[in-house]
Amino acid sequence: MRRHARKVAREMPELPEVETVRRGLAPALVGARFSRVTLRRANLRFPFPDRFAARLEGRTVTDLARRAKYLTAALDSGETLVMHLGMSGRFDVALPDGSNLSPGDFYLEGAQGTPKHDHVVMAMSTGATVTYNDARRFGFMDLVPSADLAGCRHFARMGIEPLDGLTGAVIAQLFRHKIAPLKAALLDQRLIAGLGNIYVCEALHRARLHPEAPAGSLVRPDGRPTPKANALAKAIVKVLQEAVEAGGSTLRDYAHTDGSAGAFQHAFRVYDRVGLSCSRPGCGGSITRIVQANRSTFFCATCQPPD
Ligand SMILES: [Zn+2]
Repeated sequence: MRRHARKVAREMPELPEVETVRRGLAPALVGARFSRVTLRRANLRFPFPDRFAARLEGRTVTDLARRAKYLTAALDSGETLVMHLGMSGRFDVALPDGSNLSPGDFYLEGAQGTPKHDHVVMAMSTGATVTYNDARRFGFMDLVPSADLAGCRHFARMGIEPLDGLTGAVIAQLFRHKIAPLKAALLDQRLIAGLGNIYVCEALHRARLHPEAPAGSLVRPDGRPTPKANALAKAIVKVLQEAVEAGGSTLRDYAHTDGSAGAFQHAFRVYDRVGLSCSRPGCGGSITRIVQANRSTFFCATCQPPD
């Protein structure tokens, strides 16, 4: 597994990384039954639900989907297993033939990915073992009724899925009268769900928008989208689609669950590139870093002017 020589900023997995994990996990989970579920501790970020292992054991996974940065495994019991990776959560899949679909070591710091952080071990009816490892324990698992998944506490106030028809008109509706900076509005999971620091910076650069511009400046007085709103919607969809296609970012060594590293890191245009030349042809600017709400924002002041 490739290692990065330098320490990079730590970010949470965003939509493309979670989608990559979903695609890798689906073959091991969907159609399989939980034979035995072992919890090595009582909690992750939150306590496990009551009788968690007992409610999983004997149940078959009928579907594995994603909502923003959450994985949702529908069970034949009428409950859905909701899983969030937090900062450092990852899954390892050991197959009965001895092969391992996620050799781990995704992270820079040596202690992460070691067996002492294997908190949930799921033995499946197929003979596969799915292990959840989470050094920082910001991830969590919950069981909610499938019939009201959209209304459960995790999703009730969650914004729209950006890969599910985001347009300039939708952005105009969400951002109307908002004075919050664009960066903050895009990170607000109640408006658009699934975006984090990396892909917000990348999308704003592609749309040539200044991260501190008021979100409401993308909306005409009559509520219709400006060309900037249309450009932003296109940029968000494109940057996410490309990242999903590339298998998520490898920035934090977020490997595919088949163990191969993702490649999208090489396509970053601004994220973690402070001082480097802007990649926009003819721009000639260089990437600047500012701090917004205690998070680094990377952008090109030349092609993302404040106006
Ligand atoms: Zn530029």
